[in-house]
Amino acid sequence: MSEPANPLSNQQLLNVLATYQYGIAIHYGDDSIIQWANDAMIAIWGKDKETVIGKSLEDALPELKGQPFIDMFRKVWREGITISGTNTAADLIVDGILQTFYFDFEYKAIKTGEGKTLCILHTATDVTARYLGQQREQDMAEELTALNEELAASNEELRTTNEELVASQEQYRVLYEELAESNARFRSMVRQAPVSICIIRAADLMIQDVNDAYLELVGRPRTEMENRTIWQAVPEAAEVYAPVMQQVINSGIKFEAKEHELVLIRNGNPETVFVDFAYEPMRSSDGETYAIMVLGIEVTEKVIARKSIEDAEQRSRLAIEAGEIGTYDLDLKAGTMITSDRFNQIFGYDEDVPRQKFVEAVYPDDLARRALAQEEAYKNGKLFYEGRIIHTDGAIRWIRAQGNVFYDKDGTPVRVLGTLLDITRVQQLNQQKDDFISIASHELKTPITSLKASLQLLDRIKENPSSAMLPKLIDQSNRSMQKISALVEDLLNVSRSNASQLTLNKTTFNISEMLNVCCNHVRVAGKYELIIQGDVELEVYADEHAIDQVVVNLVNNAVKYAPESLKIYLIVEAIDGYAKVSVKDNGPGIDPAKQVNLFERYYQVATSGFQNSGLGLGLYISAEIIKRHGGQIGVDSELGKGSTFWFTIPLSE
Ligand code: ADP
Repeated sequence: MSEPANPLSNQQLLNVLATYQYGIAIHYGDDSIIQWANDAMIAIWGKDKETVIGKSLEDALPELKGQPFIDMFRKVWREGITISGTNTAADLIVDGILQTFYFDFEYKAIKTGEGKTLCILHTATDVTARYLGQQREQDMAEELTALNEELAASNEELRTTNEELVASQEQYRVLYEELAESNARFRSMVRQAPVSICIIRAADLMIQDVNDAYLELVGRPRTEMENRTIWQAVPEAAEVYAPVMQQVINSGIKFEAKEHELVLIRNGNPETVFVDFAYEPMRSSDGETYAIMVLGIEVTEKVIARKSIEDAEQRSRLAIEAGEIGTYDLDLKAGTMITSDRFNQIFGYDEDVPRQKFVEAVYPDDLARRALAQEEAYKNGKLFYEGRIIHTDGAIRWIRAQGNVFYDKDGTPVRVLGTLLDITRVQQLNQQKDDFISIASHELKTPITSLKASLQLLDRIKENPSSAMLPKLIDQSNRSMQKISALVEDLLNVSRSNASQLTLNKTTFNISEMLNVCCNHVRVAGKYELIIQGDVELEVYADEHAIDQVVVNLVNNAVKYAPESLKIYLIVEAIDGYAKVSVKDNGPGIDPAKQVNLFERYYQVATSGFQNSGLGLGLYISAEIIKRHGGQIGVDSELGKGSTFWFTIPLSE
């Protein structure tokens, strides 16, 4: 096939290009006069064809002023070069609005054979959509990268955090282990603590933990303490201590007690114990009491020991008071002395006085003895001294001072601590005893001498039984013998009553009848009249022989000490289940000051002379007999008005 004979005309060619999708234009000259432009280019420019063809670029598209394109066209025209660009931004007024578009373009100088520029072929494609798409993609890619980077960064952070987390997890683990360990340690501490510990949950008082010491304190096995409330486990303490514990739970304030006395049922047996204890609130971080820790120590032994010391102190104090013992504390350096009230009283003082007063009271004859005792005491540490003092009332008293000497580190005596007793009575008794011994010897000597004389005389006349002397001498010997045996009887009675051997043989008998027959020796002598008065029917339950002896003693005394009183009354009365027997004389009577001592052993009102031939034992023995019957003995007497000695004995068993 051959080519068409009539190839396309220039106009036809232009028409082809006119519909081409890319923009094409032909410019000419220094000012880039628009000679031709296809529809696509006109559309790019956003103008009417008629307004742009034949115009310079600047006139056709005034918005290009200030943009690089007009200069680029001039350069292409003048230098015959090609300038191209892709995605090049250009601001154009389209639809009346200045907008930015992007183009791929080419300004190409079309030259003649001589190399002269004929025109500029201008091609352009609007790539705005593509470009912006690319741009968006790029932005997105950038964002993505940024995002990625961020991600990477946060990933890194995450990794670090993770590592930290792992590390802190490790720390937690260690902490937890430590906690568990310290918890275990705490528990084992609780278990092994020497103090009794019991942990009680505040909400329901259930026992949470309890150590062996606590089990021992309450005297219960562990099985009786587990899964119970404290008061189920130890009910005997609930009454007193449940309110106290509740108070601690409510207030959060600890409760402490010392030496509380309580009864615990230990291993089934009630025991009184003393405990020091505390209810310690255990609080959570928000201050709430979630448990009570009971801490306790048994102090029973300590308390008992202390109490027994206190008791002993009390006893010795009572003993000192009851024993009328005066005490003193002498400071040898200062020369001062602290004395008890009783000490002061022994000297006759009602208040504390300087030591000098006591020293001055020492009986002058005894000063040397006292000095010697002190000297001894400083040497051997013990003071013992008996001597006389002059009481503030002027009377001489006997005292016994005892003490312990204390020394300083150099061995110098610095202090004496001791006791003081008034031993006047003891001394008096000793005196009486000495007197008694001489009286008793004297008393015995008289009848023995008489007996001896009688026997000598009898010996002389033994060859002459018809002698008128014989009966007289025998009679005298008998009387002497009787006297001796009476004296010996008295002495025996004293030692018997001393040894508590005075046994009673009690029967029921009529007193008057007994009084009628007793003292016949007095009646026979005829000088004295015995008059029985009162309740003649009265019977008593007593040792008749012993009571007879008492009456004989009293009647004999009346005869001896009231010889002028020829009538002696024996009076019987019943008083409150007792029989009262009185022996009344109208003799000289007895000084009231001396009456208190009458019934003591060896006591005699008048010690001078032995004319009354007594041993000072009659009333003492009588008193002993009456005491053993559970009765009383006494005397009512006034000087010059006679004496009534009386005793009482029970009517029945
Ligand atoms: P004695 O064996 O010396 O008589 P007593 O104990 O019987 O001892 O009497 C003690 C003292 O009581 C006597 O020494 C005497 O001074 C006094 N006494 C006893 N009875 C009487 C009395 N009826 N009247 C006066 N003095 C009496």
